[in-house]
Amino acid sequence: MYKKINRYFQDNKLPKFRIKQLEEFVFKQFVSSFDEMTTFSKDLREQLNEKFSLFTLSLIETKKTKDTIKFVFKTEDNNYIESVLMLHDKRRTVCVSSQIFCTMGCKFCATGAKPFKRNLTVEEIVEQVLFISQYLKKKDERVSNIVYMGMGEPFMNYDNVIESIKIFNNRDKFDIGARHIVISTCGIIPRIKEFMNLNLQVRLAISLHAANDELRSSLMPINKQYPLKNLIKVCDQFTERTNKKVSYEYVLIRDVNDSEKDAKELVQLLKGKLVHVNLIVYNPHDFAKFGRPSQSVVSNFKNVLDRNRIECSIRRSMGDEISGACGQLAGKK
Ligand code: SAH
Ligand code: SF4
Repeated sequence: MYKKINRYFQDNKLPKFRIKQLEEFVFKQFVSSFDEMTTFSKDLREQLNEKFSLFTLSLIETKKTKDTIKFVFKTEDNNYIESVLMLHDKRRTVCVSSQIFCTMGCKFCATGAKPFKRNLTVEEIVEQVLFISQYLKKKDERVSNIVYMGMGEPFMNYDNVIESIKIFNNRDKFDIGARHIVISTCGIIPRIKEFMNLNLQVRLAISLHAANDELRSSLMPINKQYPLKNLIKVCDQFTERTNKKVSYEYVLIRDVNDSEKDAKELVQLLKGKLVHVNLIVYNPHDFAKFGRPSQSVVSNFKNVLDRNRIECSIRRSMGDEISGACGQLAGKK
């Protein structure tokens, strides 16, 4: 909504510093209403209240566990989207949604199981972080990291996602360093190239989940269009160009991609490259019949990577109890 107000200020020839003040209120002080904009005259505040709502999203509910808080928002056209705040040590990471559901249809993902609605607007992406910043402000904390790993495929909403990154990164707005922002994609190669050419310093994560085309295509239909060889090639270029490791996410699904043979195949695919592998234990949900591998299967898989010096970690699954974990975001039921 902020853009419309900005335009209103310009149309009504309000002085430039009013726009600066408005930005201060929204992006630095994280106010939640026009009434908190105390340096604006009462008259101006009333006009704003009458003409605009400050946000397009409304916060519907929050669900907490020890280290995650899921925020459910309603859009102006009555859709529901979700964001997750993760607390680890000093970091305050927001997992943002970029679309209302997803067109990619990955077989293991709750977001992909629902019919796609639409892309989120720049405002809707940014407001997720604004609301969470307002929440953290009460504890004297602020958002430190952003990951585009909520609902949707960020590179299918490329322009809005890139514009939102610029707002997160902007010194006069959120001032979150590009290195603290991660875009996760299922592998839309032309967009990865475009993104690489922007030289933003933002980090790239690839949802891999299988190390051969047959298996990957059966789990992730996008692989038929952009097969592994081409995907890895463009990721190698990304590393060369930006000097940055690419993260590969690999969801371990019981009896599907979790065997020692699968681990060895993954080693062959990534050996000698500057990469980090994030192993994620599959999070069950109502939309797919897959299961979680046992702890020992997960350790065996990791051992194969360790022995072959592929840097990897097992991502702690956060937010499972509140359906806020990876791939469980499916809007409000
Ligand atoms: N569309 C983007 C970002 C959102 S998904 C992408 O696919 O990368 C964020 C991560 O959660 C992805 O790596 C995705 O593959 C993973 N994920 C999806 N469903 C999951 C599930 N049921 N359990 C664990 N991780 C899952
Ligand atoms: Fe979409 Fe990512 Fe889920 Fe695949 S894993 S369906 S790309 S959100």
